[in-house]
Amino acid sequence: MSSKRLPGQPHIAYRGDELFLEEASLNALAQQFGTPLFVYSKAAMMAALAAYQRGFAGRKVQICYAMKANSTLGVIQLFAQEGCGFDVVSLGELTRVLAAGGQASRIIFSGVGKTRAEMRAALQAGIGCFNVESEAELEVLNEVALSLGRQAPVSIRVNPNVDPQTHPYISTGLKGNKFGIAHERVVQTYQRADALPGLRIEGIDCHIGSQIIQEAPYLDAMDRMLDLVQAIEAAGVPIHHIDLGGGLGIDYNGETPPEADQLWAKLLAKLDARGFGQRALMIEPGRSLVGNAGVCLTEVLYLKPGEQKNFCIVDAAMNDLPRPAMYQAYQQIVPVKPRSAPEETWEVVGPICESGDWLGHDRNLAVQQGDLLAVLSAGAYCMSMASNYNTRNRAAEVLVEGGHAHLIRERESYADQMRLERLPLAATIAR
Ligand SMILES: *Cc1c(COP(=O)(O)O)cnc(C)c1O
Repeated sequence: MSSKRLPGQPHIAYRGDELFLEEASLNALAQQFGTPLFVYSKAAMMAALAAYQRGFAGRKVQICYAMKANSTLGVIQLFAQEGCGFDVVSLGELTRVLAAGGQASRIIFSGVGKTRAEMRAALQAGIGCFNVESEAELEVLNEVALSLGRQAPVSIRVNPNVDPQTHPYISTGLKGNKFGIAHERVVQTYQRADALPGLRIEGIDCHIGSQIIQEAPYLDAMDRMLDLVQAIEAAGVPIHHIDLGGGLGIDYNGETPPEADQLWAKLLAKLDARGFGQRALMIEPGRSLVGNAGVCLTEVLYLKPGEQKNFCIVDAAMNDLPRPAMYQAYQQIVPVKPRSAPEETWEVVGPICESGDWLGHDRNLAVQQGDLLAVLSAGAYCMSMASNYNTRNRAAEVLVEGGHAHLIRERESYADQMRLERLPLAATIAR
């Protein structure tokens, strides 16, 4: 049987006239579980993790999967089994890690708006580190820790202000955004933290953005972090670990981000050259571990050719795949069983009552009603951002391991959606 791989998607291939993820027929999975359906490849996730592990061979590094990219328990369990820690941004995420068998001591807690209740629960669970994002948060964390008779392990998120002129992309590490502590205030903030009895300083962290596809911003951020570590330690506060965050991009449409191991070879060379080769490291990759491990299968409901545009209406929508509507993001859309007919140009759209509900503009496809399409690169920031808008049930999720399929999340039901709601009026009203 002929096999044709898709560019940038080593675990997806056409075999004969059908699309496979690992050894699993996507057509067969859609028949078995219905659509829209998320299907993830375990091998793809493990290969992405292995690229980081290769890069770090022989070093003291904790990889903390940034689980907001895909927080399904079955996905968390895979990374926990491989020894990963987790970067969480809410008590909900922390609760998922523990439910999936992850270790509390390998959890780091990021985010600009941690509540006291979240801090308390995380301290009681014994998490590894709080990545603190503001001076006010330090004070509150100190109070909460003291009230429990504990010391909170902390890292301070710094804003390395990586220059947008040289690296013009979406960024969270720039002056003028809500994340982290400004460069100029970092040393005094560490001194303040060091003086608070409820805190124990562990490290320093940054996270400069997402879908980063060049090396230069990471190298710049590392340099700035090392400058800060030198300044903080010169002021008498030891820093035990350096956390460079996540953000490495993936190939959605021909982008060529660095391989994790090659990027880290350069970053480690920089650490060595600057005398920090023995320092413990942490990283927080999200998208790059799971993004290209998943597809979303969807059925073509109707074709609606028009004078200006041809619409291909599918059964997945912006509630399942929010990235196009939210970020004008591009995800490849390919047929599960290609037709030999000539291609036409389609607007691929969902059924939701919003003009923003589109999945792809100007896509060349040979499709007919009832065909199955696969939206690629759907492993990150899709299901974890899915909603019930239009009272649509969230999709089911399947994890493929070779030819075996595990259902890791059932399709939601309408009863699931209405479970928490109450009718305010008595069931029968006398008139
Ligand atoms: C979102 C986030 C990450 C992961 O980002 P990716 O682009 O998915 O790798 C890591 N750290 C923090 C603090 C984040 O907010």
